[in-house]
Amino acid sequence: MNYDLSEDQVAFQEAARKFAQSAMTPHAARWDAEHQFPTELFVEAGSMGFMSLYTPTEAGGSGLNRLDSTLVIEELAAGCTSTAAFISIHNMALNMLARYGTDKVKSHWCEPLATGHKLASYCLTEPGAGSDAASLTTRAIRDGDDYLVSGSKCFISGAGATDLLITMVRTGEPGPKGISCIAIPADAEGVRFGKQEEKLGWNSQPTCTISFDSVRVPASHLLAEEGLGFKLAMEGLDGGRINIAACSVGAARACMELSLQYVKDRRQFGRAIADFQNTQFKLADMATQLVASRQMIRLAAARLDGDAPDRTSYCAMAKRFATDACFSVCDDAIQLHGGYGYTREYPIERFFRDARVHRILEGTNEVMRLVIARRLLAEQAAQLLD
Ligand SMILES: Cc1cc2nc3c(=O)[nH]c(=O)nc-3n(C[C@H](O)[C@H](O)[C@H](O)COP(=O)(O)OP(=O)(O)OC[C@H]3O[C@@H](n4cnc5c(N)ncnc54)[C@H](O)[C@@H]3O)c2cc1C
Repeated sequence: MNYDLSEDQVAFQEAARKFAQSAMTPHAARWDAEHQFPTELFVEAGSMGFMSLYTPTEAGGSGLNRLDSTLVIEELAAGCTSTAAFISIHNMALNMLARYGTDKVKSHWCEPLATGHKLASYCLTEPGAGSDAASLTTRAIRDGDDYLVSGSKCFISGAGATDLLITMVRTGEPGPKGISCIAIPADAEGVRFGKQEEKLGWNSQPTCTISFDSVRVPASHLLAEEGLGFKLAMEGLDGGRINIAACSVGAARACMELSLQYVKDRRQFGRAIADFQNTQFKLADMATQLVASRQMIRLAAARLDGDAPDRTSYCAMAKRFATDACFSVCDDAIQLHGGYGYTREYPIERFFRDARVHRILEGTNEVMRLVIARRLLAEQAAQLLD
């Protein structure tokens, strides 16, 4: 077993770090304060291959594996966590299209989505179907060569500013087997966007409700087959969860780096606060949490790359652990900065606000526990505990 990154992996990581430091870090506070969705950045990110990280090269993507993709996402998140998180959701939606879309739809959409000239949203959650996503009610009825889609979605990242909506809809019976996945152009007649949510963090990207009023979509926009939509949605989320977890590691790492500098500079009681054992122990615990999170993500990513039967549980464990642990690292960083950590003078409070939602979305951390426990109790514990 080799825990070192390869030369290629170090190169991806360094390219992403340079990009984040030059194109994201200097602007992140403004994007947050002005609630600005940095669309021009996505084109720059597209030219680096970051908008299509694990989309196959045949579909115009970068063709990285999941592990390599998490290296890039962590770096971007250390620059601007909220913007990196949107990039990760766009990557998830594009990859679903690239893997399961019809040739006609892929040839129209994949290239502009991969270059960041067009953007995609992932639309699963509804007002009455959050954690219980399989109870969704947005309906698609077949009408000749088209589907007519009616219903509503909520909390959709990027909605109102994205071009393609990868949408889970009901085409059949109640429950997961009656769900299908359709790529709906955001400018189709009958698509309406509600007001943007006012949020604690993730302010560099809009979050919005969508209503579909008899939206006519060609049947060629169906991904895979009718009835497979829930499977596709969950498969997308396996990767989405380690991406979001990597965003948390990026936020925590940025907070750690700022803290290491701050504790050396800040003096109280005639000495640097780094000299207090409490500070040293806190830093040691923060670093341990960060490294443990990163290793769990890489293990889950390797399981996903290897198509291991227990990959879903590993992705859930990594997401649960890393998003909780890294949020607590951001919180500890505020504590080490004292009152200044609570102000906008330092970016710590923004990382803290941005990382908070990672414990809620792409399946809450309680739902992650359900996913893990289900496998443990299904007599497949041995695989997970080995
Ligand atoms: C900023 C933001 C962006 C988002 N972006 C997207 C997006 O792009 N696309 C998308 O489809 N969705 C998105 N979401 C939605 C997100 O995935 C949901 O908010 C999340 O899945 C939880 O659903 P809910 O909010 O309805 O909470 P609920 O499901 O109502 O849960 C409320 C509480 O009950 C707990 N709970 C629920 N069921 C159980 C159970 N069985 N056992 C134990 N505890 C339980 C939950 O863990 C939670 O603590 C986003 C949300 C936010 C806040």
